[in-house]
Amino acid sequence: MEKPIDNYWQKRLTDLGKTLEANNFAVYQAENSEEAKKIVLEQIMPPLNAKSVSWGGSVTFIATGLYHLLRDDKNLDVIDIYNKSIPPEEIIERRRQSLQVDLFLTGTNAVTEDGILVNLDMTGNRVAAITFGPKHVVVFLGRNKIVSDLDEAMLRIKNYASPTNAMRLDMKTPCTKTSYCEDCKGDNRICNTWTITEKSFPKGRIKVVLINEDLGL
Ligand code: SF4
Repeated sequence: MEKPIDNYWQKRLTDLGKTLEANNFAVYQAENSEEAKKIVLEQIMPPLNAKSVSWGGSVTFIATGLYHLLRDDKNLDVIDIYNKSIPPEEIIERRRQSLQVDLFLTGTNAVTEDGILVNLDMTGNRVAAITFGPKHVVVFLGRNKIVSDLDEAMLRIKNYASPTNAMRLDMKTPCTKTSYCEDCKGDNRICNTWTITEKSFPKGRIKVVLINEDLGL
């Protein structure tokens, strides 16, 4: 068999897709991040007729190439929260505004085999938007985010996703030195609000793009 690892994950992603659909998520399957981008542009966005877009912090979203494409789209009202030249207080205001857009794009920290999205945020804008606010939400999900259950999801996030994200952001947190969560208490703590999204409400509001690649943290 050629590409046994991709074949393995394809089967796991097919099963996960059925489980997520049973939980009222809309599901799309992509071989890679390039295909995920095409799915958003050609299948998800046209029927939505979205006039405004924004996004939450997500390495996987950036990997699709959609960030630069949508940011520069003159036909869209874009609320960009990534622009590093914008003062912090303006970024906070943009994060508030991003909760009212037509389409919000982001990633997830983990997904369980029974189709539950698990996330942990520093500011909370990403988990807020997944929960309520934007009319539609696209969640990109690389195969490396699949875990067996809620316990494994929380372990993965606290001892892998958060420390690596803190390292990526050059945060002064103890996990950047030890690689383990040290349950820090300072202002730089990036682990503040958990969400467990068992189902999409209304049905289909959250669209999960499953990608057969290791992507994100
Ligand atoms: S709680 Fe603190 S030490 Fe633990 S992962 Fe989060 S930022 Fe790192």
